[in-house]
Order: sequence, then C-alpha cells, then structure tokens
Amino acid sequence: MEQNRNDNKKPGDGNKPRISFWFLLVITVALILIINSVFNFAKNSQFTQTTLSQFLEHQENGTLAEVEFRYDRIVYLTKEEAAKPASQQKAFYTGLPSGTDTYALAETLRSAGVTVNKQIVEDNSTVTMILTYVIMFGVLFGGMSMLTRKMGGGGIMGSVGASRAKMYMEKQTGVTFQDVAGQDEAKESLQEIIDFLHNPQKYAAIGAKLPKGALLVGSPGTGKTLLAKAVAGEANVPFFSISGSDFVEMFVGVGASRVRDLFQQAAKVAPCIIFIDEIDAVGRSRDARYGGNTEQEQTLNQLLGEIDGFDSSKGIVCLAATNRPEILDKALLRPGRFDRQIVVDKPNLQGRLDTLKVHTRKIKLSEDVDLQKLAQATAGAVGADLANLVNEAALRAVRQGRQAVNQEDLLVSFETVIAGTEKKNTVLTDTEKRMVAYHEVGHALVAALEKHSQPVTKITIVPHTSGALGYTMHMPEEEKYLQTSQELITELKTLVGGRAAEEIVFGTQTTGAANDIQRATALARNMITQYGMSEALGLMAPVSVQHQYLEGNAYLDCSQETAATVDREVQKLLGKCFSEAKTLLTENRELLDEIALHLLNKETITGDELMAFIQKPAEEV
Ligand code: ADP
Ligand code: ZN
Repeated sequence: MEQNRNDNKKPGDGNKPRISFWFLLVITVALILIINSVFNFAKNSQFTQTTLSQFLEHQENGTLAEVEFRYDRIVYLTKEEAAKPASQQKAFYTGLPSGTDTYALAETLRSAGVTVNKQIVEDNSTVTMILTYVIMFGVLFGGMSMLTRKMGGGGIMGSVGASRAKMYMEKQTGVTFQDVAGQDEAKESLQEIIDFLHNPQKYAAIGAKLPKGALLVGSPGTGKTLLAKAVAGEANVPFFSISGSDFVEMFVGVGASRVRDLFQQAAKVAPCIIFIDEIDAVGRSRDARYGGNTEQEQTLNQLLGEIDGFDSSKGIVCLAATNRPEILDKALLRPGRFDRQIVVDKPNLQGRLDTLKVHTRKIKLSEDVDLQKLAQATAGAVGADLANLVNEAALRAVRQGRQAVNQEDLLVSFETVIAGTEKKNTVLTDTEKRMVAYHEVGHALVAALEKHSQPVTKITIVPHTSGALGYTMHMPEEEKYLQTSQELITELKTLVGGRAAEEIVFGTQTTGAANDIQRATALARNMITQYGMSEALGLMAPVSVQHQYLEGNAYLDCSQETAATVDREVQKLLGKCFSEAKTLLTENRELLDEIALHLLNKETITGDELMAFIQKPAEEV
C-alpha cells in the first residue's frame, strides 16, 4: 500500500538540524585549537627556548640566577641577563623531563645559590585547560539552546529527534483522479480544494473563508492516500506526507518539533498539500478515557497551533486520513481545522469494476477475462485488495509462462488475496474432512433452500493459510442497501447452518463454528438493539451508536434490566434460527449427504453444481 513512499524519499528534508549540530561541533573544535595556540604563543613568546643541555651547562658553570618550575618546563634567567635592566631581560626555557623530582632539583639549585621561584609547582597550562573546557561547554550549550529554541523546544533530544523525521515530499505525484476509480462523492468534495490550490487569490479576493483541511475517513486500503495524492496531482502542487505514528516518539517534545518542521518546510514551497496518514495516532482524544500521554498531547497541541497559525491564503491544504474518526479529539474537528469530513467508502459493484479496470489498464488480458464477474465475486474487497489481486494474477501468468492474464489467474489470485493461499499439504484426517464438508454444505444448503436461488459461487474444503478449513463464497446478486427482517433471518439461519449440520450428522459440535457463531450473535444483537426487530423491546434502541461511518461501535445505553432482556432476546432469536435450520436440514438429509459426498470427492464445487443437486428432485416431481 505504501510501496511508493520510499522512492520519493527526500533525505535532505529532515536534515537541517543535524547539519547545524555538526557545524557547531566543528566551530567548537576550531575555537579550542585557536585558544590553545594563542595561549602557547603568549606563553612562549616571552621566553627563548633552549636545550636541556644548555640549561645543565648553565647550572654546572654556576651562571644561573633564577629558576622557575612550571608544569612541563623550566624557565630560567642567567646571571648575565639578570644584570640587565628588567625591561631588557631575556628569559629562557627548556622542557622538564617527566619524572623529575622537582623538589630535589630545587634543593640542589638553592644550595648552589640560585633563586628558585615560589611558583614551583604552579601549573599554568592547567589554567589554560580549564579555560578551554569552560569555553568549549559554553559554546556547545549556548549553541544548543539557540538551536532548540529555533526548532521549538524539547531540549537537546529535540534536535536528535528532528533529524530522523520520516517526512516525504514529492514535487509531482503524477497521480490524477483518473487513477482513482469510483469515489465520485469524495472526488467532488475535493474538487473545490483543487480549485483553491490553483488559484488561492480568487478566494482571497472575495474574502471567502479558505479551507484549511479535510479529513478522509474510511477503512484501510480504500484509497485515502491515493486520493490525497491525486488532489496534489490535479492541482499540480508538491505533496508532503507523514504518518501520524511518526510523530509519536519516546521523547517528549520530539513530536511537536516534527510538526513545526513539517509546516515550516511546507510554507517554503506553498501552495502544497500536507498529508497526515493515521492522524488518530496523534489526534486521539485527550480524554483520560483513552489513556493520557503527555507527548501525544503536546504534539496534538502543536498541530492545532500550526493549523490555526498558517495563512491559508498562501495555499497550504492539510489533508488527514483515519479509519477511526470517533476517537479524534473534538478540537481537531472544530471549524477552521478539519471541519470537512470526506467519507471514502468501500467500493460497490460498479466501484470494484472500475478499480479492476484501472489496475488492468497496463496488463495484457486474454479474451476470456470477465471483470464484471470478478467484481461480483469480490463484494467487500477494498481497492488495495483488488490492486493486489490483479498483480498476483499477472505474476501467476508469468510463472506459468503465458503471455496474458486469463480468468483463471484472476480467480485463483482472488482466493490467494481474499482467503489466503491454498495449503494443499495441510493434512486433515478423513473424519475432519467429512466434518468440514458437512459443515460447509450445511451453510450452503440452508441458504439455497431459503433463497430459492444460487446463494454461493463456490464451496471448498481445501484448507487455507488464513486458518479457515473450508469456506463458502457467497454471491450477492445485487448490491443491497436495505435488508428486510426476513432476509436477515435467512442470513442468521445460513450462519448457524454449519453447526446444525454437525449436530445432525455427527451428533457433536466442533470448534470450526466459532466464527459463524460470533457473526450470528453480532447480527442478532444489531437486529434487536438497532433495527427494532424484536417484540420484547419493540422500537426502543437500547444502544447509542457513536459514529455513523464504518462498522460502528454501539454502546449499551439502558438499564441493567433492559440489557438482560436484550441478552435473552438475542439468545431466543438465535435459538429459533438454529432449530429452524436444523429442521430444514433434517428434512433434506438425503440432499445434504449427496452434496457432502460430492464435495468430499471433488474438494471444491461451484454454485452451479450445487444448484444442479437441489433442482434435480424438484424437476422430477
Ligand atoms: P488507504 O490510504 O486508504 O489505506 P491507499 O490509498 O494506500 O489506501 O491504497 C492502497 C492502494 O490500493 C493504492 O495504491 C491503489 O493501488 C489501490 N487503490 C485503493 N483504492 C483505489 C481506487 N479507488 N482506485 C484505484 N486504486 C485504488
Ligand atoms: Zn461455518
């Protein structure tokens, strides 16, 4: 999904602070060297260097007048020089061999009548050294604090963190709305932003309030990033992208400085688009309910500040993506910030067909490819799944040495992508196989008998890596926006049909039905608590739904008593559906056996084959 990102990485973007850091270091070192040499110069310029033997000669000849021991050298005055007026005196120095016992030497010299200076162990270079360090730290800290103040606080770590910001900038995304299939409503909402980026002055002239940001809301893989890129592409402006999770680091203050950095970079090249993926990572509500976090709060505050702060007449538009708008902090959604929410839905039949067309544009397809059929079979798949599917199909065609992709490639890849890859080598015992076969046929047969039409495209007992031992692929003939209570009950019966078959045939229950039971329970609960489909509660909805988008979370909002009633009603509904499914399968036991046996032999049967079994006895009557 993010494969484009790395290609567009501009390593230079986040590096400025690091350069400053090294620059500072170089300056410090240079200063130290200069200070050192100046001191050495000052120290040595007053004296003339001599060799140690010259000094010893003076000592032997008794021509020494005065001697002074320093840290690493001996400074001395000869009698000849000492006789001169003070201003014309010339002192000499020589290195002091390490390990010299200066006290003993001083004693010897003194007894020979030489004045030994009091500064005998006073250490002039230590002073130099201390001074050097003081200056060094002074420069380092002074520079650092200047640097961090410039970048927005956060201490020294701020500069370290900022240098690693994973921000990507694309001068041109090269993506246009043509590359985004479907999503017409989203495109329409974004059209205005594009117009604005083309011509910010037009809006400013009228005094229209300019949009600062929009929030793209939708499940993963529905094309939010793609849409944002397309907006940049259509408006022909640079595209900055960063993920919300990149802001959140261990060190307090790093996130905030990254936010500041991002907006600073963007301001330089405006008009442009800033895209923040997974904004929920930073934009999570500051309520304690979701766990407080200082770093995240600080980052969010900085983000809010930047959004309020930038001058939108310059043409910066901030797009953000999330699949959990309900956990976002309310402050982010206030007018003037991300007040526009653009829903990016999972594609419907037409949308899936268009997406498949977009992704097969550059792929050689053989004659037998029927994208319409594939689109029908992929209900629930998002754009990313479909893109992946097409690519897998192309890879399969290459593996098999063909020139073009055929329908089989597409169907097989569909299974790979949607249901995991076939694991032919996973061995099921014969009993297990029989159980799986009956379970799957149980689902399919209930559905077929209830709907009086072909309910599935395929039933298989070939295990998949996803963990499903077998599965039944349902085929919605038409896109449904409304469902009647009868249809929902049929769905419930179909879901529990697997377990019903297990009980009828083997008199036992298996773990394979766990997922069915969960789905059935969720559906039954929704029917009772949200759709007003139970007698006991009538039209009362004992839950409040927190957000309308996506598969919404509902929270119970009623008395304990009502909650208990809900549970009882769910149980009752499921029990009723289960016993009806069981009755239905018992009445059609022969059919069940027949189809299950066939499935056991062939491992995979199609919807048409299933219908042939069911319609046979009907025709005979
Ligand atoms: P999101 O940001 O919503 O998680 P992406 O934008 O990263 O999803 O989508 C991932 C990939 O899926 C895209 O690069 C594209 O190939 C494909 N895709 C998703 N939606 C569409 C669409 N509507 N039309 C064409 N391709 C799509
Ligand atoms: Zn099942």
